[in-house]
Amino acid sequence: RAKSAGGNRFEFADPEADARAITRHGLTTALPAALDRGEFFIEYQPLVHLGDGTVRGAEALVRWLHPQHGVLGPDRFIPLAEHTGLIVPLGRWVLEKAVRQARAWQEKHEQTGPLRINVNLSPCQLTHPGLVSDTVDILEGAGLEPDALCLEVTESALIGADDDLLKPLRRLAEMGVDIALDDFGTGYSNLANLRRLPVRILKLDRSFTRGMQQYPADPVDLKIVEGIVSLAHSLDLAVTVEGVETSAQAEQLRILGCDTAQGWYYARPGPPERLHELALVDATG
Ligand code: C2E
Ligand code: MG
Ligand code: MG
Ligand code: MG
Repeated sequence: RAKSAGGNRFEFADPEADARAITRHGLTTALPAALDRGEFFIEYQPLVHLGDGTVRGAEALVRWLHPQHGVLGPDRFIPLAEHTGLIVPLGRWVLEKAVRQARAWQEKHEQTGPLRINVNLSPCQLTHPGLVSDTVDILEGAGLEPDALCLEVTESALIGADDDLLKPLRRLAEMGVDIALDDFGTGYSNLANLRRLPVRILKLDRSFTRGMQQYPADPVDLKIVEGIVSLAHSLDLAVTVEGVETSAQAEQLRILGCDTAQGWYYARPGPPERLHELALVDATG
């Protein structure tokens, strides 16, 4: 599409930018119906104990099976859902579905041990007044113990959080729900601030794990991770690492004292049956 901009000059619109804007707009308007039509689904990625290599649970990661565009990752539509407020019902749907799935894993094979489920919360859900009561209802409805649930909140969502924002998280933590600080290390938060937060787990961002991909590992990243782990442990927080892609990374992070790991080295996000198989292999030998 070219637009005449007077006399002898032509200006061309950027067709790619146009396509992006249309898609963005199209996706945004399609979101509510997509939820009604059941176009969202969840993949689960195992969380592995670094000490003994057993699967301890999984993180629920939402996807959208769009009728025209195929499978879309959360980075494509979560920001749009946050913008329109659809994230509240969508987030509630993810929570309910994932909690029911965790209960189903537990019922099907007791020998896998109490598998835990991690669910991401967006900042909009934190300020929504129904968060605590919805979570209680969902846990009770599924028959899942609160301590089998971990809610992941990004570090940036809690930077400068006042007491009103922290109140629902404190209530959930008192009930036994774990709160994890997701993408930790990217948000420039004041480390002393950690004491104020009802958080039990730090999820170290993938950018730190990356420095451990080569051998020998990046010495600065080693020092940083070492420092974060020792600070976390001194505050009674557990450390989970994201984005572990190689055995060298896993070994290095285990030596550094990280507790739990997640990444392609163990498994990509996949359907719920897969997690079950992985957990069972661990449990039986
Ligand atoms: P996150 O919570 O930090 O999730 C980890 C992301 O890293 C996932 O991307 C996962 O697929 C990816 N990942 C895992 N292991 C590896 C690895 O070894 N290498 C690499 N390169 N990547 C790895 P995904 O599924 O695209 O999700 C992106 C983000 O979308 C998530 O980041 C989370 O912030 C958000 N998200 C996902 N599901 C939900 C949801 O139900 N609600 C909300 N509010 N946000 C969600
Ligand atoms: Mg997460
Ligand atoms: Mg993360
Ligand atoms: Mg991340």
